[in-house]
Amino acid sequence: ATPAATMVGTAIGAKNGIVFKGGDILERVKDVETVVFDKTGTLTKGEMTLTDVVAFGPAADGSGVVTTGEDETLDETAVLRYAASAERNSEHPLARAIVEGAEERGIELADPEDFENVPGHGVRATVEGRTVLVGNRKLLSDEGIDPTPAEDALADLEDDGKTAMLVAVDGSLAGVVADADEVKESAADAVAALRERGATVHMITGDNERTARAVAREVGIDPEHVSASVLPEDKADAVESLQSDGTRVMMVGDGVNDAPALAAAFVGTALGSGTDVAIEAADVTLMRDDPRDVVKAIRISEGTLAKIK
Ligand code: ADP
Ligand code: MG
Repeated sequence: ATPAATMVGTAIGAKNGIVFKGGDILERVKDVETVVFDKTGTLTKGEMTLTDVVAFGPAADGSGVVTTGEDETLDETAVLRYAASAERNSEHPLARAIVEGAEERGIELADPEDFENVPGHGVRATVEGRTVLVGNRKLLSDEGIDPTPAEDALADLEDDGKTAMLVAVDGSLAGVVADADEVKESAADAVAALRERGATVHMITGDNERTARAVAREVGIDPEHVSASVLPEDKADAVESLQSDGTRVMMVGDGVNDAPALAAAFVGTALGSGTDVAIEAADVTLMRDDPRDVVKAIRISEGTLAKIK
């Protein structure tokens, strides 16, 4: 493109809250063939709220669920109190929603000791002398706790698109807490518009398969284009493997977790509300946090988006 065309494109981008990091970026965006969206905070609002607390109670129903101690059953308040106390020191949005949810319900939290963050899986802490785990199936199975008895409860919540987390106390399954996040109003439009243009749309997330598929269904992404339970360090590999046959991939994300994938992609696109690390790693920033602006960015790159007053 001529320097004049680059200036026009950059100006139209700026008017629309789309920042291209230079003329070569502005030019390459139109060549994107596959768009990979991060789920949380990118397709969804990233504002988690605690929605459900399930206490398993005694194993009398034959579910195989054991409670902590011979004759102790943890009720919902106790499950939430242990979970929120353990999550107190975590900055993860899932953790913050659990803590806020407990506080809103008037539950007084305990001070956790030996707090440990297990990235991509959950947390472990000692609460009032008891070992509490809050996290996904893998977190518990790595500790020798079988998550299978909780499968029905998890599946119900996950099919609603919620992120369900297991709570274990002293080595036994005690219950489940779930957080929900709303899909952005424009996410489905963005996916439809990209597909109409012939682009392939994928979603990648650290969240579990069921939740990921429920969200994908809501926004119109094919289940076979969903990669779930992807560890933070593996997101870049996922992008690279899509690019291994020469496919030009745009990765769209907001988190620290997404930064390596943004850097690895043919075009990395960060949301303006995203972390500084993500914005630094990206080639394009969407200041309005609107997934539809991916389509606008492509049209600006093609020179088909007229100047908007
Ligand atoms: P995301 O890509 O959604 O930000 P992460 O890679 O941070 O996901 O975490 C993946 C999964 O690990 C979460 O969906 C959740 O099941 C579990 N997890 C991570 N951090 C926590 C936490 N602080 N408390 C409970 N579960 C967690
Ligand atoms: Mg995210």
